[in-house]
Amino acid sequence: MEPPLDRSTTWPYVDGEVGPFHYARNAHPVGVEAERQLGKLDGGEALLFSSGMGAATALVLGLLAPKSKVALAHEAYYGTGVLLSELERWGLRHELYDQAGPPPPDADLVWIEAPSNPLLTMPDFEAAAAHPGLVVCDATAATPIHLRPLERGCDLVLHSATKYLAGHHDVLLGAVVCRSVEDAERLRILRTRTGIVAAPDAAWLLLRGLKTLEVRVVRQSETAATLAARLDQHDAVQVVRYPGFGGLLSFDVSGDEEARRVERTTKLITNATSLGGVASTIETRHRWEGDRVPRGLLRLAVGLEPAEDLWRDLLLALESV
Ligand code: PLP
Repeated sequence: MEPPLDRSTTWPYVDGEVGPFHYARNAHPVGVEAERQLGKLDGGEALLFSSGMGAATALVLGLLAPKSKVALAHEAYYGTGVLLSELERWGLRHELYDQAGPPPPDADLVWIEAPSNPLLTMPDFEAAAAHPGLVVCDATAATPIHLRPLERGCDLVLHSATKYLAGHHDVLLGAVVCRSVEDAERLRILRTRTGIVAAPDAAWLLLRGLKTLEVRVVRQSETAATLAARLDQHDAVQVVRYPGFGGLLSFDVSGDEEARRVERTTKLITNATSLGGVASTIETRHRWEGDRVPRGLLRLAVGLEPAEDLWRDLLLALESV
């Protein structure tokens, strides 16, 4: 059963002494339970944050120092690069690199993403793990159902739990899962001091989402694989990117205008950003990311609708090209 949704921000002392919970910025019961369950799934110690970007901010501020250097996979979620650029004025440096190969040797933190959003590339885990610096893998699109990065030599896992983990497009949430107790403790202290914390309601929705994570992700993967194979055969589609697992794929039509027509024509698939929900979403990514991605690239996040209905929707939309 769900733990009760305790929204308290303060709990009584026990005989005048601080008990297991005292102030919600430090910890709250629903958050601790959600962290226990996520930690078990990923095989490490999980900490929740107010969003994926909140988790990323805490990670770099907590584990790095001014002048530290991050080697960031250039295909990684564009918001991660935006964050690291923002933090340049606080003395954090970063360099983009191709995650299919070895990271720059002088980096203090290697940041890979598996699979990357929206180009769906996979990192070279062995090359990353051989690096002397800390290694974090953003596994938002893979989820622990398909990938446990701590078992592949990474030190940390980052999740935008907003996506598959919570799974219903109704909560903003992030998580870092740590291999080492020391990193977890450092991040816990930073989280309490900065207040980049997850609310009890958000943690409760994560607990609800985790109950169905496996069935959702398995079904989304099956449907995505079917759609990727069919899109690959379609005359209007130039390239399909699908790593062979997960619910996320991207494909290109001939250009910007054509991609915009496709996203506006689908009916079952919502023209919206984000991914990982039970409802499918599609959007062109050039509108956000500029020339990092092809103009005709459409990102499709497959939900739980029947595969044949989704295919019919895509076929009709592709007729507009
Ligand atoms: N990492 C990846 C791969 C993402 O796709 C996103 C959001 O799209 C984030 C991190 C940031 O997460 P949030 O939107 O929960 O802050």
